[in-house]
Amino acid sequence: MSRILIIEDELAIAELEKDYLELSQFEVIIETRGDAGLKLAMEEKFDLIILDLMLPNIDGFEICRQIREEKNTPIIMVSAKKDDIDKIRGLGLGADDYMTKPFSPSELVARVKAHLARYERLIGSGIKENDIVEIRGIKIDKTARRVYINGEEKTFTTKEFDLLTFLAQNPNHVFSKEELFKEIWDMESIGDIATVTVHIKKIREKIEANTSKPQYIETIWGVGYRFKV
Ligand code: CA
Repeated sequence: MSRILIIEDELAIAELEKDYLELSQFEVIIETRGDAGLKLAMEEKFDLIILDLMLPNIDGFEICRQIREEKNTPIIMVSAKKDDIDKIRGLGLGADDYMTKPFSPSELVARVKAHLARYERLIGSGIKENDIVEIRGIKIDKTARRVYINGEEKTFTTKEFDLLTFLAQNPNHVFSKEELFKEIWDMESIGDIATVTVHIKKIREKIEANTSKPQYIETIWGVGYRFKV
């Protein structure tokens, strides 16, 4: 029997979700406090977590982030505000699904089943989840070598991909052009570091909404570049 944890401070909603999930033969545990919910999620094994966004003490954003550091349990985030859902999607916290309240309990059950089936296939097949770097609207799938900007796939050359990935994996670290050249082109002294500048420009054209005001890769004058978080 699959175990589901509901972290939801509105008990009436939590109870309703629980009733429907139990009818589908799931074992359901409710936590109405954020801190207690996080503790339980970390200490015990659950097959899926339904996480409310607005909670007292510690909110769903932080809970999701902390769980994702340790576990890949499917997480469905719920919120009463559509705007919040859009915001959390953009943050790329690693939740698997998002639902806006109020939703029908049968819709919730359907989504729970779909995520459990997907997760079980993943575990059962022994296939590792793709290695993904996600920062704000940028998602880099290192396994498939694909990049998505706000959900839309963009094409990158090999070196552009390597450079973007390297910077995104070392956020807030300033690298000189020389360091980046060595890292990505792997030639100690041959070549031209102006190549780095050219590649940064091309990457910006693909990831930035406004290349004259970069939101991701910042130029640190006289030093180099850094990926802003
Ligand atoms: Ca709430």
